[in-house]
Amino acid sequence: MDCIFCKIIEGELPSAKVYEDKRILAFLDINPVNKGHVLVIPKEHYNNFLELPPDLLKELIVVVQKLSQPIMEAVGADGFNLVLNNGQAAGQLVHHVHFHIIPRFNNDNLHPWPGKTYQENEKERIAASIKELI
Ligand code: 5GP
Ligand code: ZN
Repeated sequence: MDCIFCKIIEGELPSAKVYEDKRILAFLDINPVNKGHVLVIPKEHYNNFLELPPDLLKELIVVVQKLSQPIMEAVGADGFNLVLNNGQAAGQLVHHVHFHIIPRFNNDNLHPWPGKTYQENEKERIAASIKELI
């Protein structure tokens, strides 16, 4: 399969690994938002978050939590963002599901997304629609 992350897992492409177990690999992002930016991926290829089997998702998120503190300490970060881009519209460029752990620093000037406002009754309609679809 022509997947960059599968090639990293197979050792066909180099990576700066920070963690590995039977089912999961974590390595430094080649183009970090901040230094210490880590990607956590399952070794088995799934295109996106929605395709992940729940048992593997649980293992992944536990690893994400385990790595977060050491990542912050290693680069002296004050916080971190946990990001998962799902689908092209959300900015997903590599279609092998991955969590980003992005170290954040006080005053690093990475501004969060702007907020929108709801019109009257829109909140209630959208909330009801989501509830119905679950
Ligand atoms: P996405 O936009 O799909 O959520 O994020 C993909 C991430 O993978 C990007 O942050 C990008 O810098 C990183 N990336 C792309 N190719 C490589 C690579 O070959 N090696 C590493 N370590 N990271 C990569
Ligand atoms: Zn892959």
